[in-house]
Amino acid sequence: MEGALTARDRVGIQDFVLLDETTEEAVLSNLKKRFSNDLIYTYIGTLLVSVNPYKELDIYNKTQMELYMGVNFFELPPHIYALADNAYHTMLTEYNNHFILISGESGAGKTEASKKILQYYAVSCPSTALLNTVRDKMLMSNPVLEAFGNAKTLKNDNSSRFGKYMDIQFDSEGEAVGGHILNYLLEKSRVVHQNHGERNFHIFYQLVQGGAEDLLHKLGLERDCHQYNYLTQGECAIVSSINDNNEWKTVKNALQIINIDDTNINYLFEIVASVLHLGNIRFDADIKGNALMNNNASLRWVSNLLDVDAHILQEGLTYRKIEAKADKILSPFTLDHAIYVRDALAKAIYGQTFTWLVSRINESMENKDSSRKTVIGLLDIYGFEVFYVNSFEQFCINYCNEKLQQLFIQLTLKSEQEEYEAEGIEWEPVQFFNNKIICDLVEEKHRGIISILDEECLRPGDATDLTFLERLEDKMGNHPHFVTNIKDLMCQSKNAIVRECFSTLDPDNRRRPETVATQFKSSLLKLTEILMAKEAWYIRCLKSNESKQTGLFDEALIRHQVKYLGLMEHLRVRRAGFAYRRKYDVFLKRYKPLCPATWPHWRGLPADGVEVLVQHLGYLPNEYKMGRTKIFIRYPRTLYATEDAYERC
Ligand code: ADP
Ligand code: MG
Repeated sequence: MEGALTARDRVGIQDFVLLDETTEEAVLSNLKKRFSNDLIYTYIGTLLVSVNPYKELDIYNKTQMELYMGVNFFELPPHIYALADNAYHTMLTEYNNHFILISGESGAGKTEASKKILQYYAVSCPSTALLNTVRDKMLMSNPVLEAFGNAKTLKNDNSSRFGKYMDIQFDSEGEAVGGHILNYLLEKSRVVHQNHGERNFHIFYQLVQGGAEDLLHKLGLERDCHQYNYLTQGECAIVSSINDNNEWKTVKNALQIINIDDTNINYLFEIVASVLHLGNIRFDADIKGNALMNNNASLRWVSNLLDVDAHILQEGLTYRKIEAKADKILSPFTLDHAIYVRDALAKAIYGQTFTWLVSRINESMENKDSSRKTVIGLLDIYGFEVFYVNSFEQFCINYCNEKLQQLFIQLTLKSEQEEYEAEGIEWEPVQFFNNKIICDLVEEKHRGIISILDEECLRPGDATDLTFLERLEDKMGNHPHFVTNIKDLMCQSKNAIVRECFSTLDPDNRRRPETVATQFKSSLLKLTEILMAKEAWYIRCLKSNESKQTGLFDEALIRHQVKYLGLMEHLRVRRAGFAYRRKYDVFLKRYKPLCPATWPHWRGLPADGVEVLVQHLGYLPNEYKMGRTKIFIRYPRTLYATEDAYERC
């Protein structure tokens, strides 16, 4: 006993549910103890808390994976593999769909967590040679999407600037047979602007640093990031923590594995290069303040690479075309406006290309066999972030996190307590902060921020509101002048990717486009629906400190995250509650072989059968409760003993 206490004092406790007291102090002190022993994982029941160690730990190898395969959740030290394995086995035995929600603020370790889960499945699931290729594609989609969708920010050197939900599809044998990705709102503004200390998307630097001489020559690029306006605004094009050269090799290889052929790979690089050249197109103002183009070399490279007419491109960047009856009138842009249109084009090309990449990846991972699959969805979405200067992107990102927190509250705190009530289980309610008011503030019809923003954006601008309107529209990337003129030109591009991307855009240019905020809101609603139909698992990632430092446990920062992630409330509900519940018929169907009175047939009500069954198994009165339609089991170990008995029978 003494020995056990010492270990507990030294390395803390594996599951917060077992803490003597559920105070914030106790939770923090336990986290800290574990963290200082390199134990970054702790459970709250089946929820996994992870603290970013900012150093490589030797816990992600094949031996570790094998250790966790098929082992009951609480038998081994907490690990992300245990959670992945538990979700997987529940899926196989119950034949239902699951998702793993990974949350936490920017830099807390979400993307790393999602990669570790994917790697775990790649190794642990049974597989055939054919499936190996699907598996490789799933794994290799990561470096490609990260190259095009991640960037160095102040919070994270490899920050995801898009949201990602990936379904991994399994057949009835448990083999991973296919995958599908949904992507959310790429932060396109980064293509043309970066804050100090931040970079553009990795791929630009990788190409410039890693691309072979002849490729750079063909693309008209110099091996010097500082030559490109779009790469230098953050004044940190080259950073020691990122090896663009190596990454470039990985990405090129990964592009092939996900079946992008050489022709398309070339088109891709031409697009990346054309964006860099676009950023170097400069304008002067004539005496009336209208834009004149003064760097024709860059323009020529853009037209070369995208294979579009240079003259029309120049016209599109400096004039607005007004079609009045049979006439075409050209009205010159002001200097600011020309810059705006240039940047809008760069963002559009890049954003469309990203979407194109995701669909190619999806094609390559698609499983065409129509037999029934079950899925485990992995949600890795950009985490909360607050910068010195925050813009539209932070608004969307943080709104998205509020939505996911709302889902978490719905699925755990709220529905948990409602379920006890509905099932007539005695229960002491736990108070929690419901962030629904915040979500409403953003998304409510007519009154929410997005609605108001929409109205502002879509209201025909009068002179006094024009600057404001333009600012908003700038952030929304749906400028009418851009859409009318240059879009047609892009549809004529001989670069097949560009042509395809722009041709599939809404053909009716004059229709009022839905604003990005509204699109984002509906995509989040859809995502919520997708998730609500599945069984949830949670990983809460905590950031140990702001300076990405190894071994530093910033207590104030962690306390703050524990608070806003609602971990204390979750712990209280979990502790007072029941770890497991199942409908009587489902429970009886699975475990009836364990009792002669229920096997092979139980003729009475399922609830009565379950009662007979658990009595036979020796469940103690405090270990379970009988609800109206379900049995509730307090401790996982009770269930695991039952599972073990089942395995033996
Ligand atoms: P997020 O996706 O939450 O913004 P990341 O997953 O990109 O954060 O993690 C940021 C950085 O933190 C990683 O690049 C890595 O250096 C470090 N990191 C995260 N998780 C781990 C881990 N489990 N072990 C070691 N380092 C980690
Ligand atoms: Mg990330």
